[in-house]
Amino acid sequence: MELTSKLLKEKARELGIDCIGIGSVDRYKDAPVMFSPLTLYPDCKTVITLAMRIPRGSYRGIIEGTHWHNYTFYSYNRLNTIFRPRLTYALTCFIEDFGWEAMPHYPGGPEVSGRLEPLAPGKLPPEVALSARIMAAGTGMGEIGHSKVFLTPEFGPRVRIGMILTDAELEPDPVLPTGTICNSCGRCVTDCPGNAIPRTREQDRPDVSIQVGSEKLHWGDVDMGRCTLTHHGLNNRISPFLKKDLPNFALDVTEADMTEEEAYMLTHVIAGGTWGRKFGAPDDSMIHYYRYIRGHVGYFALCGARGCICACMDSLEKRKAIRNLFKNPLFKRKLWILPVKPDQKAGRLNLSRETYLDKRYPGLREREY
Ligand code: SF4
Ligand code: SF4
Repeated sequence: MELTSKLLKEKARELGIDCIGIGSVDRYKDAPVMFSPLTLYPDCKTVITLAMRIPRGSYRGIIEGTHWHNYTFYSYNRLNTIFRPRLTYALTCFIEDFGWEAMPHYPGGPEVSGRLEPLAPGKLPPEVALSARIMAAGTGMGEIGHSKVFLTPEFGPRVRIGMILTDAELEPDPVLPTGTICNSCGRCVTDCPGNAIPRTREQDRPDVSIQVGSEKLHWGDVDMGRCTLTHHGLNNRISPFLKKDLPNFALDVTEADMTEEEAYMLTHVIAGGTWGRKFGAPDDSMIHYYRYIRGHVGYFALCGARGCICACMDSLEKRKAIRNLFKNPLFKRKLWILPVKPDQKAGRLNLSRETYLDKRYPGLREREY
Protein backbone atom coordinates (compact mmCIF):
# COMPACT_ATOMS: atom_id res chain seq x y z
CA MET A 1 0.00 0.00 0.00
CA GLU A 2 1.25 3.53 -0.84
CA LEU A 3 1.26 6.35 1.71
CA THR A 4 -1.22 9.06 0.64
CA SER A 5 -2.40 12.30 2.24
CA LYS A 6 -5.83 10.73 2.75
CA LEU A 7 -4.35 7.75 4.58
CA LEU A 8 -2.15 10.02 6.73
CA LYS A 9 -5.10 12.20 7.72
CA GLU A 10 -7.22 9.18 8.61
CA LYS A 11 -4.42 7.89 10.83
CA ALA A 12 -4.01 11.30 12.45
CA ARG A 13 -7.71 11.39 13.28
CA GLU A 14 -7.59 7.86 14.66
CA LEU A 15 -4.66 8.85 16.91
CA GLY A 16 -6.58 11.82 18.31
CA ILE A 17 -4.74 14.60 16.46
CA ASP A 18 -7.16 17.52 16.13
CA CYS A 19 -5.78 19.31 13.04
CA ILE A 20 -3.35 18.38 10.29
CA GLY A 21 -1.99 20.19 7.22
CA ILE A 22 0.32 19.07 4.42
CA GLY A 23 2.59 21.38 2.40
CA SER A 24 5.17 20.77 -0.31
CA VAL A 25 8.64 21.93 0.73
CA ASP A 26 9.02 24.30 -2.25
CA ARG A 27 6.51 26.63 -0.54
CA TYR A 28 9.29 27.57 1.90
CA LYS A 29 11.95 28.27 -0.73
CA ASP A 30 12.11 31.96 0.27
CA ALA A 31 12.63 31.15 3.98
CA PRO A 32 15.81 32.56 5.61
CA VAL A 33 18.47 29.89 5.56
CA MET A 34 18.53 29.36 9.34
CA PHE A 35 14.72 28.89 9.42
CA SER A 36 14.38 26.73 6.34
CA PRO A 37 13.16 23.12 6.38
CA LEU A 38 15.62 22.43 3.56
CA THR A 39 18.56 23.51 5.75
CA LEU A 40 17.32 21.22 8.49
CA TYR A 41 16.58 18.30 6.17
CA PRO A 42 17.92 18.75 2.61
CA ASP A 43 15.99 15.74 1.22
CA CYS A 44 12.67 16.91 2.65
CA LYS A 45 9.81 16.88 0.15
CA THR A 46 6.84 17.51 2.42
CA VAL A 47 6.17 19.44 5.61
CA ILE A 48 3.37 18.09 7.80
CA THR A 49 2.02 20.09 10.72
CA LEU A 50 -0.39 18.87 13.32
CA ALA A 51 -2.13 20.47 16.24
CA MET A 52 -3.86 19.51 19.43
CA ARG A 53 -6.43 21.73 20.99
CA ILE A 54 -5.94 23.62 24.24
CA PRO A 55 -9.00 22.87 26.39
CA ARG A 56 -11.04 26.05 26.67
CA GLY A 57 -11.62 25.24 30.35
CA SER A 58 -7.88 25.42 31.06
CA TYR A 59 -8.22 29.24 30.92
CA ARG A 60 -11.17 29.32 33.33
CA GLY A 61 -9.14 29.58 36.54
CA ILE A 62 -7.31 32.70 35.34
CA ILE A 63 -10.44 34.22 33.81
CA GLU A 64 -12.14 33.91 37.22
CA GLY A 65 -8.93 34.84 39.07
CA THR A 66 -9.13 31.71 41.20
CA HIS A 67 -6.56 29.22 39.88
CA TRP A 68 -3.30 29.31 37.85
CA HIS A 69 -1.78 25.80 37.71
CA ASN A 70 -4.11 24.44 35.01
CA TYR A 71 -2.96 27.09 32.57
CA THR A 72 0.74 26.29 32.88
CA PHE A 73 0.08 22.56 32.94
CA TYR A 74 -2.63 21.91 30.32
CA SER A 75 -2.38 24.99 28.09
CA TYR A 76 1.41 24.95 27.88
CA ASN A 77 3.97 22.66 29.25
CA ARG A 78 2.41 19.19 29.30
CA LEU A 79 0.55 19.81 26.05
CA ASN A 80 3.80 20.89 24.36
CA THR A 81 6.14 18.37 25.95
CA ILE A 82 4.03 15.24 26.53
CA PHE A 83 0.51 15.06 25.07
CA ARG A 84 1.26 16.39 21.58
CA PRO A 85 4.78 14.94 21.08
CA ARG A 86 3.36 11.49 21.93
CA LEU A 87 1.00 11.72 18.95
CA THR A 88 3.66 13.34 16.74
CA TYR A 89 5.86 10.35 17.53
CA ALA A 90 3.07 7.87 16.64
CA LEU A 91 2.39 9.61 13.31
CA THR A 92 6.13 9.72 12.57
CA CYS A 93 6.34 5.95 13.06
CA PHE A 94 3.27 5.47 10.84
CA ILE A 95 5.04 7.30 7.98
CA GLU A 96 8.26 5.32 8.48
CA ASP A 97 6.29 2.04 8.29
CA PHE A 98 5.80 2.92 4.60
CA GLY A 99 9.57 3.19 4.03
CA TRP A 100 9.76 7.00 4.08
CA GLU A 101 11.96 8.85 6.54
CA ALA A 102 10.08 11.16 8.90
CA MET A 103 11.72 13.77 11.12
CA PRO A 104 9.66 14.95 14.10
CA HIS A 105 10.77 18.49 14.92
CA TYR A 106 10.55 19.95 18.38
CA PRO A 107 10.09 23.72 17.97
CA GLY A 108 12.58 24.74 20.68
CA GLY A 109 14.34 28.09 20.31
CA PRO A 110 17.73 27.89 18.58
CA GLU A 111 19.25 30.16 21.22
CA VAL A 112 19.28 27.33 23.74
CA SER A 113 21.09 24.68 21.69
CA GLY A 114 24.38 25.97 23.06
CA ARG A 115 26.73 25.61 20.09
CA LEU A 116 27.59 28.32 17.64
CA GLU A 117 30.53 26.99 15.59
CA PRO A 118 29.88 25.00 12.39
CA LEU A 119 30.90 21.37 12.74
CA ALA A 120 33.04 21.46 9.58
CA PRO A 121 34.15 24.02 7.00
CA GLY A 122 31.31 24.88 4.64
CA LYS A 123 28.62 23.80 7.13
CA LEU A 124 26.16 26.12 8.83
CA PRO A 125 26.13 26.60 12.61
CA PRO A 126 23.91 23.99 14.29
CA GLU A 127 21.32 26.53 15.30
CA VAL A 128 18.63 25.82 12.71
CA ALA A 129 15.08 25.74 14.04
CA LEU A 130 11.75 26.13 12.33
CA SER A 131 8.92 28.48 13.25
CA ALA A 132 5.94 26.25 13.98
CA ARG A 133 3.50 28.98 12.93
CA ILE A 134 5.14 29.69 9.60
CA MET A 135 5.47 26.00 8.83
CA ALA A 136 1.81 25.51 9.75
CA ALA A 137 0.74 28.41 7.53
CA GLY A 138 2.55 26.73 4.62
CA THR A 139 0.63 23.51 5.17
CA GLY A 140 -2.75 25.25 5.05
CA MET A 141 -3.65 24.10 8.58
CA GLY A 142 -4.84 27.65 9.36
CA GLU A 143 -3.48 31.18 9.24
CA ILE A 144 -1.30 33.46 11.38
CA GLY A 145 -3.71 35.98 12.91
CA HIS A 146 -2.98 39.66 13.46
CA SER A 147 -1.79 38.73 16.99
CA LYS A 148 0.88 36.41 15.47
CA VAL A 149 -0.96 33.50 17.10
CA PHE A 150 -1.85 30.68 14.74
CA LEU A 151 -5.60 30.33 14.10
CA THR A 152 -7.24 27.13 12.88
CA PRO A 153 -10.70 26.91 11.28
CA GLU A 154 -11.81 24.46 13.99
CA PHE A 155 -10.39 25.90 17.24
CA GLY A 156 -9.16 29.39 16.34
CA PRO A 157 -6.08 30.25 18.49
CA ARG A 158 -6.61 27.36 20.94
CA VAL A 159 -3.97 24.97 19.57
CA ARG A 160 -0.36 23.85 20.06
CA ILE A 161 1.52 22.88 16.93
CA GLY A 162 3.87 20.01 16.07
CA MET A 163 5.86 19.35 12.88
CA ILE A 164 7.10 16.40 10.85
CA LEU A 165 9.39 16.66 7.80
CA THR A 166 9.50 13.74 5.40
CA ASP A 167 11.06 12.66 2.10
CA ALA A 168 7.67 11.29 1.04
CA GLU A 169 5.89 13.32 -1.64
CA LEU A 170 2.29 13.87 -0.58
CA GLU A 171 -0.67 15.77 -2.04
CA PRO A 172 -0.51 19.27 -0.42
CA ASP A 173 -3.39 21.28 1.08
CA PRO A 174 -3.97 24.83 -0.20
CA VAL A 175 -2.41 27.72 1.79
CA LEU A 176 -5.08 29.89 3.50
CA PRO A 177 -4.77 33.59 2.56
CA THR A 178 -4.41 36.10 5.43
CA GLY A 179 -7.88 37.17 6.53
CA THR A 180 -9.58 33.80 6.06
CA ILE A 181 -10.25 33.52 9.82
CA CYS A 182 -8.84 36.76 11.30
CA ASN A 183 -11.03 39.74 10.38
CA SER A 184 -8.73 42.34 12.02
CA CYS A 185 -11.34 42.90 14.75
CA GLY A 186 -8.64 44.26 17.10
CA ARG A 187 -9.82 42.45 20.25
CA CYS A 188 -6.36 40.94 20.76
CA VAL A 189 -4.95 44.47 20.69
CA THR A 190 -7.30 46.05 23.22
CA ASP A 191 -7.32 43.09 25.64
CA CYS A 192 -3.56 42.43 25.71
CA PRO A 193 -2.45 43.52 29.22
CA GLY A 194 1.13 44.04 27.99
CA ASN A 195 0.26 46.40 25.14
CA ALA A 196 2.33 44.05 23.03
CA ILE A 197 0.13 43.78 19.94
CA PRO A 198 0.12 46.82 17.62
CA ARG A 199 -3.11 48.27 16.32
CA THR A 200 -4.23 46.75 13.06
CA ARG A 201 -2.89 48.53 10.01
CA GLU A 202 -0.77 50.86 12.15
CA GLN A 203 1.26 53.14 9.93
CA ASP A 204 4.46 53.38 11.97
CA ARG A 205 4.63 49.66 12.72
CA PRO A 206 3.86 47.92 9.46
CA ASP A 207 2.88 44.26 9.45
CA VAL A 208 5.46 41.51 9.17
CA SER A 209 4.96 39.88 5.78
CA ILE A 210 6.34 36.75 4.14
CA GLN A 211 5.79 34.81 0.95
CA VAL A 212 4.61 31.22 1.44
CA GLY A 213 3.94 29.39 -1.83
CA SER A 214 1.76 31.66 -3.91
CA GLU A 215 0.41 33.58 -0.88
CA LYS A 216 1.79 36.74 0.72
CA LEU A 217 0.95 36.41 4.41
CA HIS A 218 1.11 39.14 7.04
CA TRP A 219 0.51 39.76 10.74
CA GLY A 220 1.14 42.38 13.44
CA ASP A 221 4.69 43.13 14.56
CA VAL A 222 4.16 41.99 18.16
CA ASP A 223 6.50 43.39 20.84
CA MET A 224 7.92 40.15 22.20
CA GLY A 225 9.73 41.89 25.08
CA ARG A 226 6.43 43.19 26.50
CA CYS A 227 4.67 39.91 25.82
CA THR A 228 7.39 37.89 27.56
CA LEU A 229 7.45 40.22 30.58
CA THR A 230 3.68 39.77 30.90
CA HIS A 231 3.45 36.09 30.04
CA HIS A 232 6.16 35.34 32.62
CA GLY A 233 4.58 37.38 35.35
CA LEU A 234 6.40 40.72 35.63
CA ASN A 235 3.27 42.68 34.75
CA ASN A 236 1.39 43.74 37.87
CA ARG A 237 -1.86 44.00 35.95
CA ILE A 238 -2.22 40.23 35.70
CA SER A 239 -0.20 38.76 38.56
CA PRO A 240 -1.47 38.66 42.15
CA PHE A 241 1.72 36.72 42.99
CA LEU A 242 4.06 39.52 41.93
CA LYS A 243 1.92 41.96 43.89
CA LYS A 244 2.06 39.82 47.00
CA ASP A 245 5.80 39.15 47.11
CA LEU A 246 7.16 42.35 45.53
CA PRO A 247 4.36 44.83 46.29
CA ASN A 248 6.34 47.93 45.38
CA PHE A 249 7.53 46.62 42.03
CA ALA A 250 5.70 48.85 39.56
CA LEU A 251 7.33 48.34 36.19
CA ASP A 252 4.93 49.54 33.53
CA VAL A 253 5.38 46.78 30.99
CA THR A 254 3.17 48.57 28.48
CA GLU A 255 5.97 51.11 28.03
CA ALA A 256 8.90 48.66 28.18
CA ASP A 257 11.30 48.48 25.29
CA MET A 258 13.23 45.27 25.92
CA THR A 259 14.24 42.49 23.60
CA GLU A 260 12.61 39.12 24.06
CA GLU A 261 15.89 37.70 25.36
CA GLU A 262 16.30 40.46 27.95
CA ALA A 263 12.74 39.83 29.11
CA TYR A 264 13.40 36.09 29.32
CA MET A 265 16.55 36.62 31.37
CA LEU A 266 14.84 38.96 33.78
CA THR A 267 11.68 36.90 34.26
CA HIS A 268 13.43 33.56 34.62
CA VAL A 269 16.08 34.82 36.99
CA ILE A 270 13.42 36.40 39.21
CA ALA A 271 11.22 33.30 39.02
CA GLY A 272 14.09 31.07 40.06
CA GLY A 273 15.56 33.57 42.52
CA THR A 274 15.94 33.11 46.25
CA TRP A 275 16.43 35.53 49.10
CA GLY A 276 17.22 33.81 52.34
CA ARG A 277 16.21 36.62 54.65
CA LYS A 278 12.44 36.61 54.25
CA PHE A 279 10.79 36.58 57.64
CA GLY A 280 7.85 34.22 58.05
CA ALA A 281 7.84 33.19 54.36
CA PRO A 282 7.06 29.55 53.41
CA ASP A 283 10.53 29.26 51.81
CA ASP A 284 13.32 31.51 50.54
CA SER A 285 11.81 32.07 47.03
CA MET A 286 11.73 35.64 45.81
CA ILE A 287 8.25 35.03 44.42
CA HIS A 288 6.89 31.89 46.00
CA TYR A 289 4.40 30.82 43.33
CA TYR A 290 6.76 31.32 40.37
CA ARG A 291 9.50 29.22 41.87
CA TYR A 292 7.03 26.56 42.97
CA ILE A 293 5.28 26.11 39.61
CA ARG A 294 8.52 26.38 37.66
CA GLY A 295 10.13 23.70 39.80
CA HIS A 296 7.02 21.49 39.66
CA VAL A 297 6.09 21.76 35.96
CA GLY A 298 9.30 23.14 34.38
CA TYR A 299 7.48 26.22 33.12
CA PHE A 300 5.47 29.16 34.41
CA ALA A 301 2.83 31.12 32.51
CA LEU A 302 0.82 33.92 34.10
CA CYS A 303 -0.91 36.10 31.53
CA GLY A 304 -3.63 33.64 30.54
CA ALA A 305 -3.17 34.85 26.95
CA ARG A 306 -5.92 37.31 27.75
CA GLY A 307 -5.68 39.19 24.48
CA CYS A 308 -4.08 36.96 21.89
CA ILE A 309 -6.04 33.79 22.71
CA CYS A 310 -8.97 34.48 25.06
CA ALA A 311 -10.24 37.73 23.52
CA CYS A 312 -9.62 36.37 20.04
CA MET A 313 -11.49 33.19 20.89
CA ASP A 314 -14.40 35.22 22.26
CA SER A 315 -14.50 37.27 19.07
CA LEU A 316 -14.31 34.23 16.78
CA GLU A 317 -16.93 32.33 18.77
CA LYS A 318 -19.33 35.28 18.75
CA ARG A 319 -19.22 35.62 14.99
CA LYS A 320 -19.17 31.84 14.54
CA ALA A 321 -15.96 32.07 12.56
CA ILE A 322 -14.68 28.73 13.94
CA ARG A 323 -16.31 25.32 14.17
CA ASN A 324 -15.66 24.34 17.80
CA LEU A 325 -18.38 26.33 19.56
CA PHE A 326 -19.75 26.16 23.10
CA LYS A 327 -23.14 26.34 24.75
CA ASN A 328 -22.03 29.20 27.02
CA PRO A 329 -20.01 32.33 26.23
CA LEU A 330 -16.37 32.46 27.32
CA PHE A 331 -16.76 35.63 29.37
CA LYS A 332 -19.80 35.84 31.65
CA ARG A 333 -18.47 38.31 34.19
CA LYS A 334 -16.41 41.47 33.99
CA LEU A 335 -12.71 40.62 33.74
CA TRP A 336 -10.45 41.57 36.64
CA ILE A 337 -7.32 43.65 36.21
CA LEU A 338 -4.92 44.82 38.93
CA PRO A 339 -3.40 48.30 39.25
CA VAL A 340 0.26 48.71 38.23
CA LYS A 341 1.22 50.87 41.20
CA PRO A 342 0.45 50.09 44.86
CA ASP A 343 -1.93 52.51 46.64
CA GLN A 344 0.95 53.34 48.95
CA LYS A 345 4.41 51.99 49.48
CA ALA A 346 4.36 48.73 51.45
CA GLY A 347 6.96 48.56 54.24
CA ARG A 348 9.84 50.89 54.89
CA LEU A 349 13.12 48.97 54.76
CA ASN A 350 12.32 45.27 55.08
CA LEU A 351 8.68 44.45 54.42
CA SER A 352 8.79 40.79 55.40
CA ARG A 353 10.51 41.54 58.73
CA GLU A 354 8.19 44.42 59.52
CA THR A 355 5.06 42.42 58.64
CA TYR A 356 6.21 39.35 60.55
CA LEU A 357 7.14 41.19 63.74
CA ASP A 358 4.03 43.42 63.71
CA LYS A 359 1.85 40.33 63.45
CA ARG A 360 3.64 38.19 66.02
CA TYR A 361 4.67 40.92 68.46
CA PRO A 362 2.41 43.97 68.10
CA GLY A 363 4.15 47.11 69.31
CA LEU A 364 7.61 45.56 69.51
CA ARG A 365 8.96 47.71 66.70
CA GLU A 366 7.78 50.97 68.23
CA ARG A 367 10.15 53.91 67.58
CA GLU A 368 12.25 51.88 65.12
CA TYR A 369 12.15 54.54 62.45
S1 SF4 B 1 0.45 36.32 25.98
FE1 SF4 B 1 -0.49 38.04 27.05
S2 SF4 B 1 0.98 39.73 26.84
FE2 SF4 B 1 1.51 38.21 25.28
S3 SF4 B 1 0.42 38.89 23.45
FE3 SF4 B 1 -0.89 37.41 24.50
S4 SF4 B 1 -2.23 38.66 25.77
FE4 SF4 B 1 -0.50 39.95 25.17
S1 SF4 C 1 -8.57 39.06 17.96
FE1 SF4 C 1 -8.12 37.37 16.54
S2 SF4 C 1 -9.49 37.76 14.84
FE2 SF4 C 1 -9.37 39.70 15.96
S3 SF4 C 1 -7.62 40.86 15.05
FE3 SF4 C 1 -6.78 39.64 16.72
S4 SF4 C 1 -6.07 37.75 15.77
FE4 SF4 C 1 -7.51 38.69 14.34
